[in-house]
Amino acid sequence: MTRRVGLLVVCVAWCATAISAPAPQAVAEIERDLYDDPATVLRDARADLASLPAEARAERLRLLVRQVMAAGMLERLSDASAVLPQANALADELKARDMQCLLQATNLSIEHGAKGWAAIAESAARAVHQARAGAEAWCEPRLLESLAFIHSNDGRRAAALEAGQAAEAAFQASGEALMLAVVRNHLAWALSEREEDTEAVQRSIELGDQALAGIDPKRSRYLAGSVLHNLAGARIAAKDWPGARRDAAAAEQLAQALGDPVELAYVHRQQGEIELRDGRPVVALAHLRGARRAFATAGIDAMVVTSSALEAEALLALQRTGEALRVLSDAEAPRARLALPKTDVPYFRVALEVYSAVQDPAATAKAARAYAEALQRRQREENHRLATELQERYASAQKEAENRLLRGQQEVQRLRVLGLVAMLVLAGLVLAALGMYLVQQRRLRMRLKRLAEADELTGLPNRRAILEILNDAAARRRGGRAIAMLDIDHFKRVNDRFGHAAGDAALVTFAKACGSVLREGDVMGRLGGEEFLMVLHRARAAELQPLFDRMRGALQASPVDGMPADERLTFSMGAVDVPAEADLEGALRAADEALYRAKAGGRDRMEISGRVG
Ligand code: GH3
Ligand code: MG
Ligand code: MG
Repeated sequence: MTRRVGLLVVCVAWCATAISAPAPQAVAEIERDLYDDPATVLRDARADLASLPAEARAERLRLLVRQVMAAGMLERLSDASAVLPQANALADELKARDMQCLLQATNLSIEHGAKGWAAIAESAARAVHQARAGAEAWCEPRLLESLAFIHSNDGRRAAALEAGQAAEAAFQASGEALMLAVVRNHLAWALSEREEDTEAVQRSIELGDQALAGIDPKRSRYLAGSVLHNLAGARIAAKDWPGARRDAAAAEQLAQALGDPVELAYVHRQQGEIELRDGRPVVALAHLRGARRAFATAGIDAMVVTSSALEAEALLALQRTGEALRVLSDAEAPRARLALPKTDVPYFRVALEVYSAVQDPAATAKAARAYAEALQRRQREENHRLATELQERYASAQKEAENRLLRGQQEVQRLRVLGLVAMLVLAGLVLAALGMYLVQQRRLRMRLKRLAEADELTGLPNRRAILEILNDAAARRRGGRAIAMLDIDHFKRVNDRFGHAAGDAALVTFAKACGSVLREGDVMGRLGGEEFLMVLHRARAAELQPLFDRMRGALQASPVDGMPADERLTFSMGAVDVPAEADLEGALRAADEALYRAKAGGRDRMEISGRVG
């Protein structure tokens, strides 16, 4: 789980680039021409712009972009900066997102002169995030490439590598072979700078070879030259002189074909270094002299200083110390302008040797001090770089740890909520079960009660129940009330003639027939044998004749199982009024007396008690 989350976090960081799409046609065209021959692109763009009609604004923008990018690539930064505002304004006006992206990527790498690397690193990172948010899948790796370049200049090697590798993955995913080679060449260059790190140098050579294999050197001449040049640099670091010599020669050919004096100067400087380190100072000198002059013409101070230092070293090896001194003094002005450890260290190292060779103790001591100081500065810069890198790594590790902690806390919280919900559900289930159990118990109790109160044969309230009902009704109800006692006539005979089962059936039939004509709220119960008691509400005994007739009618309509079809039951009834708070025993006795009179009077009839119960 943790590992999956970890992968997810990494994926969230760079997946957006891994699903990169290829660039629009217009972008791909510019890049194709640029990496083949930037000098021609620059020249043609200028010429075409001059003859372009004013209304062809989209074409104008494309030409401006070509000019900016070509000038940037050829390190003619002032040329690039001069056209950039115009290009930016037109791109914004036309809302040309593709050209905006290219300008942004180029702008980031040419602006460093004015703002410093750290400042543009920030805006580059912002641009990458904007591209990601704007779903500019094809634009993002170009900005990342730019960011990688910036970071390898501001000393943040780890960040440079990370951005470069993200761009590499994206270009690989989008199948843009040219840009893939561009970013690999770039990574190779960044890695070859770490001369002391043999593993980095080896990786640099691999990347350079891959970049070269991915492009057509005839159609991407500028890029091929740059790759070969960087490869030669990496082979110098690996002390592979024949390999370095071969790649540098191939790079020289391409630079000559393109007529690019600056690129040619870089290659010559490199060739000089190769020959010098391989013990051929005379050949080295020829290369270095040409390089130094070309750099001076182009105004690239740093390269003038480092070429001069190499040249002085070659002259010293040939014991031409006077010439060496002259070369050094010529380079002093650009060195002082820069005063960078990168240029000071090689310059003063050679100066120290040259002054010591000409036995000038004062100058030797001065050069030694300057050399030591430059080394110290370089070390400080390296320490600072390492510290920054460590700090960054620590910060990102800390952030990752914090995120993990937060995710852990969220998980705990989630589990807590889940637990609570589960507990609530469980409690609900228990309550529901308890409720169901209670309801069932109640039903069971009621059923048992009913069974206890019901007469088994007829289902009517039994003696105890009907007397209870009478009691209850007497206590609760007000208003007129009567009771009637009923007895089936000659029931003994039914049993005798048709059997006990028929007698039972007769009792059931009687209960059903009489019960069916009773009003809602009136109740009949079985007192025992074939004797029944009715409790009648809102009724007077004197008015019960119609009820008796209804019961009689119902009974006449009801044949009894086990008795011949023409045989019918009759019954006699004695009724009495029962006022509130009456003497119930007395009322029952009075009803019984009335019943007796009905029997005596010939049965199949009712009698009303004269007294009140
Ligand atoms: P009368 O018209 O005077 O009431 O005559 P009778 O035969 O109905 O009266 P008596 O009280 O003499 O007889 C009642 C008979 O009812 C006696 C008994 O065998 C019978 N009996 C009582 N309970 C049951 C019962 O649950 N089932 C059956 N089949 N017979 C019963
Ligand atoms: Mg009887
Ligand atoms: Mg009877």
